[in-house]
Amino acid sequence: MKNSPKYIFVTGGVSSSLGKGIISASLGKLLKSKGLVVTIQKFDPYINVDPGTLNPYEHGECYVTSDGAETDLDLGHYERFLGIKTSRNNNTTTGQIYQTVINQERKGDFLGKTVQVIPHITNEIKSRIKSLENEKKYDVIITELGGTVGDIESYPFIEAVRQFRWEIGEQNSLVIHLTLLPYLSAAAEIKTKPTQHSVKKLMESGLNADIIVCRTEHRLTSDLRKKIALFCNVDVKSVIESIDAKTIYDVPLLMLEEKLDKVVLKKLKIKSKTKADLSSWKKFVYNLKNPKNEVSIGLIGKYVELQDSYKSILESFIHAGSVNSVKVNVNPIHSESINKTNVKSLMSNLDGVLVAPGFGDRGIEGKIISIEYARVNDIPFLGICLGMQMAVIEYARNVIGLKNANSTEMDYHTKHPVISLMEDQVNVEKKGGTMRLGSWKCEISKGTLTHDIYKKNVIKERHRHRYELNFNYIESLTKSGMVLCGKNPETDLVEIIELPNHSWFIGVQFHPEYQSTVDKPHPLFKSFIKAATNKKRTYGRK
Ligand code: GLN
Repeated sequence: MKNSPKYIFVTGGVSSSLGKGIISASLGKLLKSKGLVVTIQKFDPYINVDPGTLNPYEHGECYVTSDGAETDLDLGHYERFLGIKTSRNNNTTTGQIYQTVINQERKGDFLGKTVQVIPHITNEIKSRIKSLENEKKYDVIITELGGTVGDIESYPFIEAVRQFRWEIGEQNSLVIHLTLLPYLSAAAEIKTKPTQHSVKKLMESGLNADIIVCRTEHRLTSDLRKKIALFCNVDVKSVIESIDAKTIYDVPLLMLEEKLDKVVLKKLKIKSKTKADLSSWKKFVYNLKNPKNEVSIGLIGKYVELQDSYKSILESFIHAGSVNSVKVNVNPIHSESINKTNVKSLMSNLDGVLVAPGFGDRGIEGKIISIEYARVNDIPFLGICLGMQMAVIEYARNVIGLKNANSTEMDYHTKHPVISLMEDQVNVEKKGGTMRLGSWKCEISKGTLTHDIYKKNVIKERHRHRYELNFNYIESLTKSGMVLCGKNPETDLVEIIELPNHSWFIGVQFHPEYQSTVDKPHPLFKSFIKAATNKKRTYGRK
């Protein structure tokens, strides 16, 4: 199979939330640092076509790729760790598989035949596994299988992987099984039984694990490694410890220590192209752990209880903190809890405020009150998507004096619809994948703070919205001092706003958080954290 990519499948056992995404991204990072061309894809066993219609409470953040796919948040980890771009081919769900097969059946592609899980569904899964081969000459394609081995909905994926491995020859692929080794404090012992069972479960479905990655709170002794090796049918070197880490960014370095990359390369008989260079990663982690300063940033949104809801924003803060050698303490504030009476006590010790993206009217008045506080008190402010739209509404109400100005998303009959539905959205009725999605160009006006930050006339950022700044209000907003400094060159849609008589006040219609990576922290986040640090230095906290 010369020149074909090698395939690595990552499965999970014992429990969910063990961090298959982080292990996959860490391995990808190590292989990439050795000069290999790598990508990662994720298979999700749920029946939704994509997570775009899912509430963040259900599924965490919906990550948007540059080609406009609404995908699983693990794709964000892949991009942030590897500095690669993923696409809609990097995320497949059971919903997509069935939708494709059922559409083919309706077209008559299987005329006369019974359509079944095997072979029709498994064939479609296999074609999705291979779909990335057409994009680029990859050396290695990592496929993360969502869910836990033994779940009913995972079976077709496991069976498809079994067939796929048989078809491409076992030497061209391997299976990494990520499992949990629970520690029983009463017995003061790490237990291996659940791992033995989950490896057995995997074998029952026809897949042998080649490497076992063990999530553990305590170090593994060599006896324990031997025991796992013996019962799970792998060599001792293929038992990899994945000890709980302080930050997810430690994981590639921990996997390097455990020689996961070496074991993988040896098993797949691949020669690395260069010696692993992780110096910039190490510097990033060093800066992260040795900050010279710290800032407190208010994250104002309505899903703040669930960490995963704003994953990319939180990671962007970590990237920006590291380059600035500043520890970013994120202070989540539920937008519904903010009112005129408590805003000062909630916000007076913040060095910066980020108002998050979102949909629907819950909590928006709290967002508007917090934006007013940041504007009037000169606290660095970054508004993302809905956050930018709320900044426009706040300005219209409190500076221009347009009472009850609103977005038609929140109040369809508002007298002053400063934010309104985009023209091409007016007749859109279906919900999935119908927003303005993905990468679009934006022209930045020279002489503005934003231009100073990006140092570019034209940028490309990712989007996910239906509403926009209403053209009818451009004149009054501009006259009263708001600078509309970024617009789409084809449609003139307003993409960026800023306030010049404020130390740092920017709102963006797009989502900069999707493009921040370890190697390239996003310029807006970098500058925002720098402004918050300066603010703290200059004024101290009130
Ligand atoms: N609800 C707003 C819109 O659809 C903002 C979307 C967002 O914040 N992602 O335009």
